[in-house]
Formats: sequence, structure tokens, C-alpha cells
Amino acid sequence: MRLTIGWLYPTRMNIYGDRGNVIAMQRRAEWRGLETDVRHIELGDPVPEEIDLFFFGGGQDQEQIAVARDLAGRKGDALKAAVESGAALLSVCGGYQLLGREYRPHDAEPLPGIGLFDVETVAGSERFIGNVIVDTQWGELVGFENHSGLTFLKGDARPMGTVRVGRGNNGVDESEGVLYRNAIGCYLHGSLLPKNPVLTDWLIGAALERRGFQLPLLELDDQFEREAKISAMDRAVKTR
Ligand code: GLN
Repeated sequence: MRLTIGWLYPTRMNIYGDRGNVIAMQRRAEWRGLETDVRHIELGDPVPEEIDLFFFGGGQDQEQIAVARDLAGRKGDALKAAVESGAALLSVCGGYQLLGREYRPHDAEPLPGIGLFDVETVAGSERFIGNVIVDTQWGELVGFENHSGLTFLKGDARPMGTVRVGRGNNGVDESEGVLYRNAIGCYLHGSLLPKNPVLTDWLIGAALERRGFQLPLLELDDQFEREAKISAMDRAVKTR
């Protein structure tokens, strides 16, 4: 059994340790005896049909302009179709913003999102920087945020969780991220997945289930991951 990971714009959308998410996806699949294949999807590249699990990292406004242009039209439609058919996806910050309806930066024309998530983002006057703890369906998740974008859920969009420490989507409604089918948008850099193995396994499980793989995944010894999470949570509480 193979897990094929599609890494969206790794040279342009990959900040604050985001690459660690792809490493965590790969290792936790390989530790269960699965083969993995990581496909880079850059500007001008199509979205391969065989992708099981996508990762879309963060990036500065300038990079987002080029990426938004690249995603407009067929590429964005292909990404939406993959998620609608059950593919798993994790997007962080700048990637998350471009999967919504629109992102309005400070010093640029509004950027169209692909509309996968029913959210809208506008650049705020304050930059949210710091550790974040979010209460979610997977329990508490810990990460690091660094964004000026304020994201607001629209329609019946469902938040990924509720902020316990930090600012989250917009610093106002205590929501963090968005969850739609097997796709997640969030502001949690860090990188997120190495410290939150339950989320990594949920993404891998969802991706494999779409291919008919019988769950649950083999249990792993997560001692190091637990220690990393406890340390990050302690830091988050102390620096709130
Ligand atoms: N440029 C966006 C913002 O500042 C995203 C930044 C990021 O990906 N960390 O909100």
C-alpha cells in the first residue's frame, strides 16, 4: 500500500517549519509499513490524480499573489474535486487563506481563493504572533501562529476548533481554522504535525480509507511526540 502526498508550492509556500508536516506524514505512514511518494506541485504543474493527501504551507503576501494566479481556474477546480472525492488535506496560514473565497492583503488587489472553504480573509492592522492551543475533536492541539490575515467563517463553515491560548482565525470569535470533509485549514505553524500525532494519523487514515484501506492504523510509540507537545503547551501557557 502506498500513500501519495501532494506538496503544494514547496518552494514558495513553506515557512516557519511547515516542511515538518510533510516529514511527519511520510514517517508515520512508513512506520506502519506503507510506501510513500511525495510529489511537488509548483507553479504551472497540474494536480496529479493519484494524490491521497495534500499539504499547502504558509507564505508571504508576495508569494500568495503568484500562487493565487496559478490556482485560479482548472488547477483550483482539480484540488476541490480531489477533496470532494475524499482526499485529505492540511493547509496552514497563507495556503489556508487561498483555499477560501478571497484574501484581501494590505498592499495588493484582493486575491481570489478557490472557494474550497467557505471563509474570507482580510489583512488586519495587527500581526498575530505567538503560541496557540486549540480545543478540537482530536483533543487539544498546539502550534505557533504568525499572520496578519483575519479569517471569518461564512455560511455553515465549521471551525477546526476553539482557541484556548492565542488568537486563531481572527482574535474575535475564538474560532481557529476550518474543517470541511477531510480537509483542514488552520493558522498552526510550528510545525504542527510532529507535536500533534493524533492529527497526522487522522489525515493518513482519511487518505487511506478513500482507497479502501481497512483502519485502524497500527499503534506507534509516541513518547517523543508527547514530550514535545507537553513542552510546547507549557511554553504556550507561560507566554500567553
Ligand atoms: N501573508 C499571510 C498573512 O500575513 C500569511 C502568512 C503566513 O502564511 N504565515 O496573514
